[in-house]
Amino acid sequence: VDAALLELQSRLPAEVIDVDPHSLQSYGQDWTRFSKVNASVVLKPQTIEQIQTIIALAKRHQCRIVPSGGRTGLAGGAVATQGEWILSMDRFCRMGTLNTAALSLECEAGVTLEKLQEHLSSTPWQWPVDLASKGSAQIGGLLSTNAGGLKVIRYGHVRRWVQSITMVDGESRVQVLNGPIDKNNSGYNFRELVIGAEGTLGVLVAAHLKLCRKPQRRVHALRPAQSVKHCLESLIAARSFPLELEAFEFFSQDCVNAVLKHRPDLKSLPPAPWYCLWSWDASVGMPWDLSPDEFKAGSWLESAILVEDSSAHEIWAYRESITEALSTRGLVYKNDVAVPVDKLEDFLKELQSFCARAYQGFEVYFFGHLGDGNVHINIVNPNRDSPEAFRAHCESTNPSLYACVANYGGSCAAEHGIGLLKKKELLLTRGPSQVEWMKQVKKVFDPHGLFNPGKIFEADCQIPTAQEDSNT
Ligand SMILES: Cc1cc2nc3c(=O)[nH]c(=O)nc-3n(C[C@H](O)[C@H](O)[C@H](O)COP(=O)(O)OP(=O)(O)OC[C@H]3O[C@@H](n4cnc5c(N)ncnc54)[C@H](O)[C@@H]3O)c2cc1C
Repeated sequence: VDAALLELQSRLPAEVIDVDPHSLQSYGQDWTRFSKVNASVVLKPQTIEQIQTIIALAKRHQCRIVPSGGRTGLAGGAVATQGEWILSMDRFCRMGTLNTAALSLECEAGVTLEKLQEHLSSTPWQWPVDLASKGSAQIGGLLSTNAGGLKVIRYGHVRRWVQSITMVDGESRVQVLNGPIDKNNSGYNFRELVIGAEGTLGVLVAAHLKLCRKPQRRVHALRPAQSVKHCLESLIAARSFPLELEAFEFFSQDCVNAVLKHRPDLKSLPPAPWYCLWSWDASVGMPWDLSPDEFKAGSWLESAILVEDSSAHEIWAYRESITEALSTRGLVYKNDVAVPVDKLEDFLKELQSFCARAYQGFEVYFFGHLGDGNVHINIVNPNRDSPEAFRAHCESTNPSLYACVANYGGSCAAEHGIGLLKKKELLLTRGPSQVEWMKQVKKVFDPHGLFNPGKIFEADCQIPTAQEDSNT
């Protein structure tokens, strides 16, 4: 490591290299808190040439690289546990000019979602991705996790809004995946492989993002519900209402209680076991502007709190504060599953009775993107001691939990990815032959096994010896 550090210091400007123990600790972890951080150096390049140099030196010195964005990941994808080099994209934060002919914007990987939203705020256009972590989550991280978020029900995952990606591969080559064009059926589409690859295939440096028109105004609704069945009835009614549904979320009363403890500035809500929260694109008119017949179809809305954009934050705060509120209560073990929406009621019934048996002594919280069939099952250990024992307990229950998910035809990672934490579940739900394909794909992009070893699946790529590598 010392020889590697000396060569990094001789080849890169001093401000790129950071070995301060505090930086190693904070850049070495994401929002998961289960792994012991072990990072050798934090590298903050400013140019593609510097990234190429870092990759070439990692290859020569047999070091590994963790590509790092805003470190808001919930699966351990950006965590360094084996003395890796952290390659932070914080300094890649430029945005190009808006291309209104192509309706796209070129954006570097280190731009945060919030900065991108601010950049577009005075235009009629949006990149229609939204999540509570927008202040820190970066474009490179969002693409690498194929993030979902609040508006998947209308716009889909990040994948749908990416035209082109520029990345550096495991041989330090710059690769442009697709280019700034919409139509391109020329052979295999590598852009789609890199999206959601969790930093295992290379370093994303920039992307052309596709944009669309933003709604001129929205209306937001929060409705208490007596059961999951009632939440699903609200979903069907909200979808059938003559406005386009943009988001449809749900959360339990326990989540609201945790949020209220964390955010005493928020008002308490009418008591109910569940709440659903949604927004409609109201560009064509607010519900109360609709024709009497259309509005009559909305009499079920009487029990909902309806607000316009200017007050939206007041009701969205209950949903958007959940992750943060839970993290203040203790260690959080996250499960991020999806099942077909029409099976949610039965699934949640089975899940609730399973959780009551499996997690005695812990707190269990259910919330998520109901409209996408996506449930976040968060297990909180209020006693902060022994994270290893807590993780081991949760992992020992996973085979039963994920067998239940598999029985409903579900996914073990709806939007957070696999990272370090859900490798066994991936094997269970995708099967060994597809995981083997993933390993083969990695070898093509990253033949020396440099990027994010041990994420998604166990690392078994061989790194060549320094002698074999003398051409670099
Ligand atoms: C409060 C909160 C709310 C959240 N809500 C949602 C939600 O609604 N939906 C959702 O999908 N997720 C959500 N997340 C999870 C997280 O915000 C997303 O996974 C996000 O996409 C991660 O972006 P990041 O920049 O923080 O990536 P990081 O955590 O830094 O990294 C994530 C993965 O991407 C890789 N990576 C990062 N940058 C690059 C790059 N430039 N090149 C190659 N690989 C790279 C890393 O190696 C890692 O594997 C939430 C997290 C929090 C804390």
